[in-house]
Amino acid sequence: MLPFDLSKCRIVDLTHVLRPFREYRKIEIHRGVIEYDGTYMHEVSFHSHLGTHVEVPAHFYDGGTDLSQLPVETFIGRGVLLDFDFLGPREPITVEAFEQAARGRLRPGDILLLRSNYPLDIWADPLPPDERPAITVETAQRMANLPVKMFGFDLSINVGYSVEEGRQIHDITMGKDIPWIEVLMNLDQIKAEEFTLIALPYPVVGLDAIPVRVVALEAL
Ligand SMILES: [Zn+2]
Repeated sequence: MLPFDLSKCRIVDLTHVLRPFREYRKIEIHRGVIEYDGTYMHEVSFHSHLGTHVEVPAHFYDGGTDLSQLPVETFIGRGVLLDFDFLGPREPITVEAFEQAARGRLRPGDILLLRSNYPLDIWADPLPPDERPAITVETAQRMANLPVKMFGFDLSINVGYSVEEGRQIHDITMGKDIPWIEVLMNLDQIKAEEFTLIALPYPVVGLDAIPVRVVALEAL
């Protein structure tokens, strides 16, 4: 028997589509031929924080937990979307705002996804003004204390308003082996109050981050 019936699920793809040579961060592909049978292959070179990606403590700590060292269960779980559509430009995501968006739905071990109404177009040149609401240090502590299993956000959420705040938020969450998912897409298409979130990074020894395909499975 299957654990659940996919025909009773709606799958929302939360992944950015990568365009080699045209991304904000490096991705180069070069086609080659496998001599043995003449089929094609590619050599690929990319930034580990490319497109939609999962990052783990090796990103922040020298010798920190790498992609191969977290159990696969870390990357699958109950997901809840926190929609900060009630915040204005550059308003902080305080603990009060966090609880307002959570609406009492959170449980230990959840995977939280965050969005606002102020996406930053990182592909624009020159960059437009940054109006993103930012996660505060106190809210990062709240997520770490729950604890969340993982959390993610799209291009409408900033991580602190300064490098120092960003470092503290990394330290609070990555110090507890809580991975992040960055550059999520289509979060406005999530309709369910809770869903199953799957974001599986390839387990590469020594690596700090890697692009992933992320899906939310909603019950119909
Ligand atoms: Zn990153």
